[in-house]
Amino acid sequence: MTNVTFASLGIAEPLLRALATENYTHPTPIQEQTIPLLLAGRDVLGLAQTGTGKTAAFGLPLLQRLTADKTPVQPHGVRALILAPTRELAIQIDESLRSYGRNLKLKHAVILGGINQSRQVAAMRPGVDVLVATPGRLLDLIQQKFVRLGTVTTLVVDEADRMFDMGFIRDVRRIVGHLPAKRHSMLFSATMPGDVVHLVGEILREPVRVDISPKTIAAENIDQRVYFVEAKDKRALLQDLLRDSSMSRVIVFTRTKHGANKVAETLERSGHSVEAIHGNKSQNARQRALESFRNGESRVLVATDIAARGIDVDGISHVINFELPDVAESYVHRIGRTARAGAGGVAIAFCDPAERGSLKAIERLVKQELTVIGGVRPSGDVKSDTAQKPARHENRPHNQHNRARNRRRGGQSRRAA
Ligand code: AMP
Repeated sequence: MTNVTFASLGIAEPLLRALATENYTHPTPIQEQTIPLLLAGRDVLGLAQTGTGKTAAFGLPLLQRLTADKTPVQPHGVRALILAPTRELAIQIDESLRSYGRNLKLKHAVILGGINQSRQVAAMRPGVDVLVATPGRLLDLIQQKFVRLGTVTTLVVDEADRMFDMGFIRDVRRIVGHLPAKRHSMLFSATMPGDVVHLVGEILREPVRVDISPKTIAAENIDQRVYFVEAKDKRALLQDLLRDSSMSRVIVFTRTKHGANKVAETLERSGHSVEAIHGNKSQNARQRALESFRNGESRVLVATDIAARGIDVDGISHVINFELPDVAESYVHRIGRTARAGAGGVAIAFCDPAERGSLKAIERLVKQELTVIGGVRPSGDVKSDTAQKPARHENRPHNQHNRARNRRRGGQSRRAA
């Protein structure tokens, strides 16, 4: 922790009081770097995932600038627009901005797909200062002339990489086409594939890049462990581990929706309080499951990667990778659910023989070997890929990974939720 405070970054009194209520004593790294830039009106490209404090990083300057600029809202109009790829994330951003802005007199609204539009239409009639929206429904309401974006002064695109993954990018581009060219813009993304680089060029003006690497988060605060176990024994192992009462709030990740359901059913049958969330569940069912996990009614949440994206629950004690993800970066996203805002956390991976290649890729990415707490690390494996390896070893884990993955896939796509 440094001596930097929110006040020293230029955050004004009514927001400082809200932060004190939230018990935010010090800014997180992304807040420290981003807040002064945004207060000065610079466009920002933020490389950061959920869990780093990025909502306050863009939210505090956004609320402060809206309050300072006294332009009134127009009927159906919007002053600051925040686009998020999932309903869960949009709801979380909306809740955070309302609580940071609790001492300000700003009007907030949220627009989401999957639910009746009439309340959203009514909320937009007088116009709002802050609108958080998912792209599809927003575009619908724009076309129906219930929302007008001609007076937007601030644009935030959150989780831009996920916008591409979920096929929303066309909608995002069309929405941006409705905005004034002169505006303050910021974009956040956990990764920077070529598509996102392109989008940045289209919507930001001379942006400053702020990079909060997830690798650092993973390495520093999270105790990362691995069990070597046969696939058929994973469910029994999970039940065994859950006897430990220090596992107070646990997320279990599976690769598929079907896998999530099966794990949840097994746990439920043996008397655990458990919820599952994945893309097949309705918006209401997902919200209910999340709420029950958040308020402690359910101790275990079983989730797929996409459904878990953007979930913001504090105090998660353990993340269990029941199945390892195909893409190593997803592991970093998963374990980032614990050790939020500097707290400690434990991540446990269950690695079956077909997943050894995935484990190698993960260990290479997080630059450490996970601590073996059960089973035996198979002999003949490359020990560590983190240290300076001779060049001839470099490609071996990749090849193993791909072979193992192809074996598992059996020629089929196994994308989750
Ligand atoms: P976010 O990345 O915005 O989803 O934030 C992750 C979590 O960290 C949320 O639960 C926030 O409430 C919390 N948080 C954000 N900023 C701070 C801070 N400066 N101090 C303590 N907690 C924070």
